[in-house]
Amino acid sequence: MYSSKSHRPTWAEINIDVIRSNVKKIKEKCDPDIQIIGIVKADAYGHGAVQISQELTRLGITYLGVATLDEGIELRTNGITIPIIVFGPVEPNEFSKLMEFNIYPVVSNYNYAKELAENYRYRGLFPKVHIEIDTGMGRLGVPFDNALLEIEQISNINGMIIDGIFTHFPSADSDIEFSKFQLDSFIHIIEETKRLDIKIKNFHIANSAGIFNIEGVATAPFNMVRPGLAIYGYSTTKNSELTNSMQLKTKIIEIRKMKKDETVSYLRTYKIQKDKEYIAVLPVGYADGIPTTYSNKGYVTIKNKAYPVVGRVCMDYTMVSLGESPEDIKIGEEVIIFGNEFMSVEKFAKICSLIPYEVTCNVSKRVPRVYIRKEDRG
Ligand SMILES: *Cc1c(COP(=O)(O)O)cnc(C)c1O
Repeated sequence: MYSSKSHRPTWAEINIDVIRSNVKKIKEKCDPDIQIIGIVKADAYGHGAVQISQELTRLGITYLGVATLDEGIELRTNGITIPIIVFGPVEPNEFSKLMEFNIYPVVSNYNYAKELAENYRYRGLFPKVHIEIDTGMGRLGVPFDNALLEIEQISNINGMIIDGIFTHFPSADSDIEFSKFQLDSFIHIIEETKRLDIKIKNFHIANSAGIFNIEGVATAPFNMVRPGLAIYGYSTTKNSELTNSMQLKTKIIEIRKMKKDETVSYLRTYKIQKDKEYIAVLPVGYADGIPTTYSNKGYVTIKNKAYPVVGRVCMDYTMVSLGESPEDIKIGEEVIIFGNEFMSVEKFAKICSLIPYEVTCNVSKRVPRVYIRKEDRG
C-alpha cells in the first residue's frame, strides 16, 4: 500500500472520504451561504497541499488560505485556480509574484496598501486584499483602536479592492468569554464599515475551534469561515465529531527474541525483565515524525491490539514489545502508529506534550503520502 516513491514500508495514509465527511460536518455548523476558505498552509498540515486543495475544490470550497507566497505559488503551478489568500506578510519586492500568480495578500496598514496598489496600477491591475484586524490575537493586523480609520483610508486608495476583512481567535477552544468579546468588537467594526458605506465583499472570523465552539461566527454578518485543523479531522477539545484523516503506518521489519537483562535501543532505557520477550523493530523514527518523548510511553496498533513502544525512539527505528509470546505476528505485519481509535492524533500529541497540529506537520518529507478513497477500495 506504500507509494512507489519510497522503497521503505513507512507511509502516511490519508483518507479522502474522511476529509469529505469532515467538510460536511463543518458545513453543517454554518449557514448555507457561508463560503469556506480551506486553510492548506504548511503542506495542508502535512497532508499534502496540492492533493488536498484539489479535493477541497471538488467539494465546492471556494477559497484557499496559505501562510507563505511560496505555498500559494505551489498551488497555482499545480493547476489550482480558485482564489488563494496568503495570510503571511509579502515583501514589496515580491508584489510582482502576487500579480503573476493572482494571489490575494493580507494588508494591515495604509502605506503598505498604497505601495501595493501603485505596483498593481503600473501593470493596469487592481489588487484584491483582505485586511486583518487585531481584536486580541496580538500578532498581526491593524490594532483594533485604529481599525475603522485604517480600513477607510485603505478603501480610498485608487484601484484598491477590499475582498474581505477578518480577525483571528487565539483561544476559541478554551476562552469562550474572550472570544465573544472579540466577536462583538469585530461585529461593531463591520457595522461601522457598512454605516460608512465602505465597499467590502467578505467578512470572516472563525478558525476550526471558532466554528465548533463560538456561536454567531458562521452567520451574518459573516459570510466566510477559515477552518484548517477540522478539515483534517483533529480537534483541540474533547468529544470531537470529526475523524482523523491521516494514519501513520509502517510494517514490522524484524522480530527479535530477547533474554532477561538485555536492553533495547540508545541509552538502554528498557531492560527485559522476564526470561524472554519478543521485540519488533519498526522502520520509522523521529526523522519521520515520532518524537523521542514517545519513548517508553506510547503504543502502536498491530492486528487491532495495542503494543507498547519500548526503549528510545531512534532517528529511523522504533521498537515495540510483543510480549512473551507474540500471537501470530510476523515480519511484514502492518502497524499503525497513530490516527486510529486506539491512538488518535490528539492522544499521540498529548503523550508527546505536543498539539495535534504539530503531530501531522512533523510527519517529514521522506514519508510518502498515500491517498485512499472509496473507489480505490472497490
Ligand atoms: C492557521 C489559520 C487558520 C486555521 O486555523 P485552524 O485552527 O487550523 O482551524 C485560520 N486563520 C488564520 C489566519 C490562520 O493563520
